[in-house]
This record gives sequence, structure tokens and C-alpha cells, in this order.
Amino acid sequence: METKHVNKYLKEMITCTMCGYCKEVCPTFKEIGWDSASARGKIALSYGLYMGDIEPDDSVVERLFQCTTCEDCKRRCPSKTEVVKALEAIRKDMNEAGFALEIHKKIYDSIKKYGNPYAETASRSEVLGEQPKKAKIAYFAGCTATYRNKEITDAAISILKKLGVEYTILDEVCCGSVLQRTGFDDESLKKLIDANIDAIEATGAKKVLFSCAGCLRMFRKEYKQFRDFDFEALHFTEWLADQELKLKPYTKKLTYHDPCHIGRHIGIYEPPRKLIERIPGVQFSEMEYNRDKAKCCGGGGGVRSAFPKLAQDIAANRVKQAEFAQVLVNTCPFCLNTLKFGNEKLKQDTEIIDILTLIDSLME
Ligand code: SF4
Ligand code: SF4
Repeated sequence: METKHVNKYLKEMITCTMCGYCKEVCPTFKEIGWDSASARGKIALSYGLYMGDIEPDDSVVERLFQCTTCEDCKRRCPSKTEVVKALEAIRKDMNEAGFALEIHKKIYDSIKKYGNPYAETASRSEVLGEQPKKAKIAYFAGCTATYRNKEITDAAISILKKLGVEYTILDEVCCGSVLQRTGFDDESLKKLIDANIDAIEATGAKKVLFSCAGCLRMFRKEYKQFRDFDFEALHFTEWLADQELKLKPYTKKLTYHDPCHIGRHIGIYEPPRKLIERIPGVQFSEMEYNRDKAKCCGGGGGVRSAFPKLAQDIAANRVKQAEFAQVLVNTCPFCLNTLKFGNEKLKQDTEIIDILTLIDSLME
């Protein structure tokens, strides 16, 4: 197989010393148990394809798509190997050579046709029940919250209304995260980026609030590589933590899951905690693995769609780690769904909820 994209990451492939520290943290290795499923195994497979020493047979392709892009390996790696960057590049090479996974191709086609990965035909305005308008603050709802977890978009809009903020929703399309993570072309990604930046600029918004970790990561890390913009992209909790809030008491035992895409990827750890600590009477305690050491929910990087059992097993492990709490709060609709999916297997008596849903329910 000819490679082009992964060639830019030759340094990553040759500076991996095979020390194996990543095996201790890699969630896919923990479930699958084969070295090829660890970060170092996937780097070795990528190098094998680059050198032409191995062929992209089904087992190689499968392994290289079994990465949730959690980046726990990079945190643990003494060589700071950019495993995710190299894997996203080899996925591009595999897709271009005709080895894309069927389910990923289906998602890609849906995004191109409908602007969302769920083949939903209703527009954002129709689902959210509002039209975009001029405002200083915009809410980027994201595909998953809009089409699968409307309770999150309802909560976000309700919070903005209760605070008396002049806001607007957006005529947005998919942020492109799934295309980037599963190795699709830059041209398709650029169209989404242009559509979203145009939609935001049309409203004149200077702050854009996100309730999805994956969407925000795209705006903070990928978008500016394609096109500059002059608005601030913030997680909803980054903005909300600084607002005046009057919250009703809530006394349940609560813990917090850091989504990889706003945690390890862009370093947002404190604002959600600051918000939680403002709830009168709350009994908050940390999970053993928190902040940069948080374990992955198992859903990212196209794993949930292509390998649902793997995603569910990883998610069940994460929910188990919250067994001391009555409520597991998080800040990403995709994590929320995957954690709930994991709990269908685990059947633990833990309520799993998005932070905006919780805060809205406590606001007077
Ligand atoms: S921790 Fe880093 S250097 Fe060590 S095997 Fe894993 S990827 Fe390679
Ligand atoms: S990003 Fe996460 S799932 Fe992927 S190889 Fe690294 S530790 Fe494993």
C-alpha cells in the first residue's frame, strides 16, 4: 500500500522505543490483550505499512481503527510519541487506498449529504425551534446533542434564557471531528469548517459556547489550521463558571468524568469542577483517575460505530470506577451516550448525566 500522509510522522514511528509504558494505560489494549492493540503495536503496524513490509489485510486495518484517540498513551510515553496524529494519518492512507471501514464510509456519506452523521433531515433550526440572529453569544449545539440528546440543547438554551443573555443558535453543520478522527479527506473537512465559520460570522458572535467536547476540540485545534477566525470558542462550562448563578441545594454523591477531548487534548479541567462546587450541599469527590489521568469512555475515534462491543466494554470499566457515587456527571454528549451504553452491560445503579442538564434543573 502506498503511504503519503503517515510519512509526515516518520519521527513518531522511529522514536517509539517499544518501552511498553503505553500498554499500562491504553484502553483498547486492556480489552483486546494483543500487543498490536496497544499504542506501540499500532505504531509498529503503521511503520510496517510505511516500509511496505506488511500488507493492509483485515487484521491490520481493524487494529489501526481500534484507537479511541484518547491520548492517554502520549501522556504516559517517555518519548512523547504523537500516536494519535500518526494513526489519523495512516487512516487517511488506508482510506485513500480503499480500506475505509464500511460504517465510517456510511457516516462520511451522511455528513456530506445531510450535514450530520445520523442521516437526519431536519435542520438545526427546526430541531431547536429557533432561528439564528445577530447576537454577541452563539451556542454551537453539535450533532449528537441536537439529534440524540435534545435534553442537553434544551438545558443549554434554558440556561441562557434564565440568565437573560442575548444569544443565538447557529445554522451549523457537523464540526468534522468524526471525519478527522477516522481519516477522511481535508477537502470535505474544509467545506464543513467554512460552513460553520460562515454561520458564526453571519451572527456577529464574539463568543461561541460548546456543549460537546469533540466539537470544541475541533475549533480549538483543527479549525485554525484551515481558516482563521476572530471569535472565542469556549466550552459552555468555561463561560458558565464565571456567571452569577442561584442554585437550589442538591445533596447527592457526585463525581465527574473528564472527556478526553476537552481534558487531555485541550486542558479544560477546572471550570466543570468550579461549577459543581458551587452547588449548595453537593457531596463531590474525584474518581481515582481524574484530570489528565482520566480513563476514556471508549467511544471516540470511530470506535463506537465500528466496534460497539469494544466501546461498551471500555465504557463499562469507566462507569465501574464511579461506583462510589450516585451521580456521574460529564461534559460531552458523546461520552454521555457511551457511558450509558457501558452501563447497559454493567447495570450499576449510577445516574449518568450531562452537567448542563444538572445545572439547569437546579437554577431558580
Ligand atoms: S510509551 Fe511511547 S515509546 Fe513507549 S512503547 Fe508506547 S508509544 Fe512507544
Ligand atoms: S490514543 Fe488511547 S486508544 Fe489510542 S493508542 Fe493511545 S492510549 Fe490506546
